Amino acid sequence: MPEGDTVAWTAARLQAALGGATLTRAELRWPSLAQTDLVGARTVRVVARGKHLLHRLDLQGQALTLHSHLRMDGTWRVRPAQESVRWDHRLRAVLGTAEATALGRSLGMLDLVATADEDRLVGHLGPDILTRAWQLAGGPPGREIALARLSRDGRPLAEALLDQRVLAGLGTFWVSEGCFARRLNPWRTASQVPADDVAALLDWARPRMLRSARTGAQSVTGLARRDALGAVHALSGRPCRRCGRPVRVALVGVAPRERTIFYCPACQGGLAPTDDGRPQAPLGATRSDRRSDRRSASGPGGAQL
Ligand SMILES: [Zn+2]
Repeated sequence: MPEGDTVAWTAARLQAALGGATLTRAELRWPSLAQTDLVGARTVRVVARGKHLLHRLDLQGQALTLHSHLRMDGTWRVRPAQESVRWDHRLRAVLGTAEATALGRSLGMLDLVATADEDRLVGHLGPDILTRAWQLAGGPPGREIALARLSRDGRPLAEALLDQRVLAGLGTFWVSEGCFARRLNPWRTASQVPADDVAALLDWARPRMLRSARTGAQSVTGLARRDALGAVHALSGRPCRRCGRPVRVALVGVAPRERTIFYCPACQGGLAPTDDGRPQAPLGATRSDRRSDRRSASGPGGAQL
């Protein structure tokens, strides 16, 4: 699932392609927007808020925001304007200028609101780990707000970190990798984890997410090589790079919204309460291994990897 860094990278690509230009083409295959005509609108700015994309438009003096969310596997891609668009059932939005065409596929949400009403869509989000306001003073910085919330949160650490109302931007990749990097047990109650440890996790994740938002490659090392992206994410059944014991995957959260977290029991304080400890085959090892691993990873609630 795209996380805050990927969404920020996407927003920057859309801003570079569409910013300041007038839409000569706008086709939205979305039931509630079937009658909407955005041709002639000028793109003021495309920004990310957590995992949400806000495409701000000026349509004859009217300030509008086209809001989208990538959910599990949505994408926005930019192509040259002269390239013809091939429609399929996943393509939900086409926004074109004289120079470029943006293609929104498998989008999880698409709404149009007055820009003044954006808070109806994103007002519930906690402080965004990728914004300047995360660290700058002038009101309490987002980091302090998030840390205060986490210090009172009675849920497992990973579940609290994934809750976009607590802080916005983290997904399962960065939560798994952050907990591993800082040797924290993702299932330990958030309020019981020492504040310095939680702060260290967030301070570890932020610069790496900012780098990933610049490069488009979600990677803890900065390298886009497949074996250098992460230390535990999607590596269950493989040896831990630190201790050599097997990395595992288990669920966190409440059905039907459980999420999968990858971790090393030996480095991170033992088995998860949701982990039966049975052997887990590496993801993608063989066809049948992959099926059984996905079953154990997705659990009864059907949360996807
Ligand atoms: Zn380990």
